[in-house]
Amino acid sequence: MSQIVDGFNRQVDYLRLSVTDRCDFRCVYCMSEDPEFLPRQQVLSLEELSWVAQAFTELGVKKIRLTGGEPLVRTDCDQLVKLLGNLPGLEDLSMTTNGSRLTKLAQPLFDNGLSRLNISLDTLNPELFTQLTRNGKLDRVIAGIDAAIAAGFRKIKINAVILRGQNDHEVIDLVNFCRARNLDIAFIEEMPLGVIDERKQSRHCSSDEVKALIEAQYPLIPSSKRTGGPARYYQMADSSTHVGFISPHSNNFCHECNRVRVTVEGRLLLCLGNENSIDLKAIVRAHPGDIERLKHAILDGIQFKPQSHHFDQEGVQVLRFMNATGG
Ligand code: SAM
Ligand code: SF4
Repeated sequence: MSQIVDGFNRQVDYLRLSVTDRCDFRCVYCMSEDPEFLPRQQVLSLEELSWVAQAFTELGVKKIRLTGGEPLVRTDCDQLVKLLGNLPGLEDLSMTTNGSRLTKLAQPLFDNGLSRLNISLDTLNPELFTQLTRNGKLDRVIAGIDAAIAAGFRKIKINAVILRGQNDHEVIDLVNFCRARNLDIAFIEEMPLGVIDERKQSRHCSSDEVKALIEAQYPLIPSSKRTGGPARYYQMADSSTHVGFISPHSNNFCHECNRVRVTVEGRLLLCLGNENSIDLKAIVRAHPGDIERLKHAILDGIQFKPQSHHFDQEGVQVLRFMNATGG
């Protein structure tokens, strides 16, 4: 049982750990075209990241997801996987990636102990792919997905952000892509991070709309699978593919939230839709390797976890971009 319990009696057993804010893509919903990245000295080193992870697992965290930015642009990422893979008590070490480097890295990641992969893929149209990522190549990502399957990963999940007027006509194609490869798929509502303008508001596509598009072709059977987050999962009658909907807007999941994030600057973010954070880097750097001190800071900090996110309150904007947050 996790010792990390917040003021609303929610147990935290899941950490999303960001390993970089950098990325080889510039997805339109995630970062600006010309982002400023953190200077390297502000980024936690491999050793510092592994101390943070150790502190969380010693407190009872069972699941860690590595994310970013794009975790695989960090050259020592497979070494980090090896370090974390050996942490006692850690039951599930996963990663969210854009897939662009998986042809090379899927096998070493699998061999180093990564249990699961989420791979982002919003469209099967090469031109639109390059437009949405501002520079990505679709064929590299598809080759990366196939390399991950060949490396031995099971239960790979595709993440797709659906934007009205851009890729909403591809919902069924994306589902069929996953059915053909026995992958799961989660459709994500765009979250209002960074500067919000009218364009962002008008392209917002709700999970209910996406679900209705799928149900017009395939019946969806509610699944008991729960992740303690904003996702709801469904089974398909004639395939092992699970279909999920991640709906921070239209589904209030806060009462069962089981997770926190640590940004690559070592800020413990208590809620995705909220600016509250605790500076773990200051502790790590002032007292290198002092896991007990880190654990105390985490237990004190968790008391500030807010009861719910503020996405739906008018006028409230979270000015972080996703790559700086750790998606
Ligand atoms: N670079 C990796 C990737 O793209 O999978 C990991 C980091 S990315 C920030 C993690 C996930 O967040 C991706 O699936 C991406 O589509 C999603 N994402 C980014 N910005 C988002 C936003 N504004 N709203 C909803 N999802 C977003
Ligand atoms: Fe990079 Fe992932 Fe953000 Fe796209 S969503 S810009 S791949 S971090």
